[in-house]
Amino acid sequence: MSPYSPANRSSPRFGDLFYKGPDVEILRAPEIDRRYESSVKGIHIIGDLSGIPLLKNAVNMGQDLIEKIGPALRESDLEDAEYHALIVGGGGAGLAAALAAQEMGLRYLLVEQKHPGNTISSFFKGKEIFAEPEALPNRSRLWVEHSYKEELLERWNAAIEEGNLNLVDCEQVTNIRRDGASFVVETTKRGYRARRVVLAIGRSGNPRMLGVPGEELPKVHHVLVDPDAQTMEKIAVVGGGDASLEAALALAPHNEVTLMVRARTVKRAQKANTERLHQMVESGKINLLTESKVVEVREHSLDVEVKGEAYTLANDRLFVMIGSDPPEAFLKNLKIRTEGEWSPKRVLSLASLTLLVFLLYGWKKQGFWPFVAGGPLYAWTSWQPSMWFGLLYSTVITGFGVKAILRYRKDPYQVKRYISLILSQIFLFWIIPEIIFQMLWPVQDGWRAYGLFFPAPLYVWNFWAPQNAHIFWFAWSIVISVAGVPLMAKLTGKKYCAFVCSCGGLAETLGDSFRTLSPRGRRMRAWEDLLTYTVTVLVAMVIAFGLADKDSGWWKIQGLLVDFSLAGVVGLAAYPFWGNRIWCRFLCPLAKLLYIFAKDNSRVKIASGQHCIRCTLCSKYCQMGIPVMEFAKNGEEFSNRNSSCIQCGICITVCPVRNLQHGDWSEERWKEEIEQGPPVHVV
Ligand SMILES: Cc1cc2nc3c(=O)[nH]c(=O)nc-3n(C[C@H](O)[C@H](O)[C@H](O)COP(=O)(O)OP(=O)(O)OC[C@H]3O[C@@H](n4cnc5c(N)ncnc54)[C@H](O)[C@@H]3O)c2cc1C
Ligand code: SF4
Ligand code: SF4
Ligand code: SF4
Repeated sequence: MSPYSPANRSSPRFGDLFYKGPDVEILRAPEIDRRYESSVKGIHIIGDLSGIPLLKNAVNMGQDLIEKIGPALRESDLEDAEYHALIVGGGGAGLAAALAAQEMGLRYLLVEQKHPGNTISSFFKGKEIFAEPEALPNRSRLWVEHSYKEELLERWNAAIEEGNLNLVDCEQVTNIRRDGASFVVETTKRGYRARRVVLAIGRSGNPRMLGVPGEELPKVHHVLVDPDAQTMEKIAVVGGGDASLEAALALAPHNEVTLMVRARTVKRAQKANTERLHQMVESGKINLLTESKVVEVREHSLDVEVKGEAYTLANDRLFVMIGSDPPEAFLKNLKIRTEGEWSPKRVLSLASLTLLVFLLYGWKKQGFWPFVAGGPLYAWTSWQPSMWFGLLYSTVITGFGVKAILRYRKDPYQVKRYISLILSQIFLFWIIPEIIFQMLWPVQDGWRAYGLFFPAPLYVWNFWAPQNAHIFWFAWSIVISVAGVPLMAKLTGKKYCAFVCSCGGLAETLGDSFRTLSPRGRRMRAWEDLLTYTVTVLVAMVIAFGLADKDSGWWKIQGLLVDFSLAGVVGLAAYPFWGNRIWCRFLCPLAKLLYIFAKDNSRVKIASGQHCIRCTLCSKYCQMGIPVMEFAKNGEEFSNRNSSCIQCGICITVCPVRNLQHGDWSEERWKEEIEQGPPVHVV
């Protein structure tokens, strides 16, 4: 089971707050410019590693890069370098770049750690290759069409041969360093000098090794491509995740299989895989060794340790499936800056933005100089600052909302959602409370009309001093908070956050371009829980103590700490640094309440198909930090039972192969959907 599968997802533990181990990996894309040049001048990044998935994009980037840098490079002096360009990685991006470089007459070399097309050849036998997006032309000289992996690889090998490409394989690049005007590229065999380096190493990373003698023997593998290729063999599989379980299950019918896991039980794999494994173990078809490890790999045997005791197992083949090391460390080593990395400039921007938002909210609140009565900005206009503030908020949400509608225009769900956010802001959170109840038909304490559509604990002000205000406000807040919130959650999950809420509106419109910066992982989820519960308790105390003694200072805490500092300043200023939903994810008490009431809502959910290509876009674009791909790659559905999803649908919109959908989906419906045509491709 993935760490985010339903069973695991529901209970972050205290220890997760300090978790530092491996987590669901979303590679932060490296910073690159229009010529795909990284922060290290002279090193270019193309293909999956740049953060843009899919084969067609990869080959187009390879072609495009050489067209952009090739002509000047060809005219430049090689000086002490052997090559104009050294291309690292022989996947679609690297091969397309090599073909373009060949055509342009550059001196280039492609270095591949295994063999060209290594990533594609590790897909299982007969894997269908989708040439998405259909509408995007392939501008490169490398063949990419809707096909099967075998045909694609055949075509690529023919292109390499016909093109007589200058490439070396079975040579891994281990380091790159600048030396004068050139780069020295070190590999496992030697060093090369080149003027430019093109990194096209994909994002699969390198398989983790056991670090024991004999691991380099040809009988050791890290992927299972064709389970039917092995019969009557003694096979050991190492690893407790889904990949190793699936390999053991696929090999067991025709071989003698031993599954070795380090832990006391198998607990990281999907429930279905674990159940099937236990059936196979009980029927004697798989030998399960828990608390075990390989000590040495020999040609026909394995030295192992099981619960501290040494044994030797007869063995013909070993599959080591203990995950892979993402290429992030490689980039870090080369000092290539990735998206969202801290620098003095960024710290300064954070400080300036915080100050700006502080002044903006300060003006609305008028709680301190220069906004207090008599302060220089007090009598600026005859309108209340909140009237201006509402106008500003509505203008920003409308402006950026229209921008988002244009961006996501191919998806009717997004168009509906953004129209709903814009209209909610204009009518529910500006015209009704400011214009209708305070200007056109003023009533006493008309500002309390904000509480018509904001329930507690997000909006607590109608509980304050109820004896001075009309009882209606107090009663209404009780009704929508006590009955409305649970009912809304039961019927619509957390859709209020994606369709109505004004703070959510700002996050989804002004903050749309920052959604990929949201913090992710187990640790963040634990913090999310801890902080929202803390704020919820604080707000509950404000309401309770405030009701008991209306003159107590508790309301001030709510006003200054929660409304002003956390929701206003921190929430908004954080957009460009930690994504657009910091307040919503880590601090909003209403979010926690909606989540709790929506937990048994099994109708509002997102279904996953079986054709995920693990491009990570869904997880990357989820502003709530939900590891969507962890569900999607296992074909699992998710809802508020196991995630804090607000049903914004962005993950569905960005999925390039239509692998995600709202609601229940049958096999048939998935097939029809795929046949329907090119997916909505927004990135
Ligand atoms: C399960 C799965 C299914 C997919 N299905 C599809 C699909 O149907 N359609 C589609 O368009 N896309 C699909 N993709 C995505 C597609 O595979 C990638 O977008 C594409 O392979 C990216 O090409 P690339 O050249 O950037 O990287 P890769 O193809 O990953 O190539 C990187 C190459 O670099 C080599 N390398 C890595 N490190 C080093 C080093 N240090 N030194 C030397 N060489 C190195 C690797 O061995 C590899 O050959 C799928 C991906 C997965 C995981
Ligand atoms: S989490 Fe809170 S502030 Fe954010 S959109 Fe939902 S209700 Fe509004
Ligand atoms: S999982 Fe998808 S629908 Fe849910 S919040 Fe994230 S992006 Fe939105
Ligand atoms: S579900 Fe779609 S967007 Fe998410 S990883 Fe799979 S293919 Fe990519």
